[in-house]
Amino acid sequence: MTKFDVQKVFEQFTDYLMPALTPYEATLYIFLLRNSFVKNGSCDIRIGKRTIGGNLGSSRSQSTAFSHVTELLKGLKEKGCIRIGDTNREGTLYSISLPEDIPLVKEKLVVTAEQKEEDFFNDPEKRKEIFDRDKWLCHYCGDKVTDKNATLDHLIPQCKGGGHNKNNLKTCCLVCNAIKSGKTYEEAAPFLLKSIRERKQQ
Ligand SMILES: [Zn+2]
Repeated sequence: MTKFDVQKVFEQFTDYLMPALTPYEATLYIFLLRNSFVKNGSCDIRIGKRTIGGNLGSSRSQSTAFSHVTELLKGLKEKGCIRIGDTNREGTLYSISLPEDIPLVKEKLVVTAEQKEEDFFNDPEKRKEIFDRDKWLCHYCGDKVTDKNATLDHLIPQCKGGGHNKNNLKTCCLVCNAIKSGKTYEEAAPFLLKSIRERKQQ
């Protein structure tokens, strides 16, 4: 079982899990967490739906509260937040997953980690790695660039979801970058080729 780290759980809950839950689902998830991990360090809790309904402060009638709780539990199960076990006279057994063990949170954690380690755009040392890789030549016109005028072009533009990773960054001269900026290569190609032709003629 994963160690319960309050700060980490809280951050991952608010940043990644809460946006994927309805407000009532979020409230129920916190309630279950509060009565499992926080209370006794166990991921399991056995509890009746009426007790849950009562504790969530539902002002609805008893029967509506019951079906509402059933619906919320189903939602949490479908989103991978809980597993539902057997039912006996003391209630139903629920196994609560911590945010980092929930698939939809895991996915977002992986993406965030990749973005963090793959930022070759903002870190000056890493920018230089790209220039060295490209031998200080503009990816589009082939002109030599220096540390005074070298820029990095996003092959897939940032506005179209392109990231700061190695594969998406190309060494670029100022002129080509001004033309390519915000466009895909396909969109920019006619303008780039025209400009390169004109520059060669000068
Ligand atoms: Zn160029």
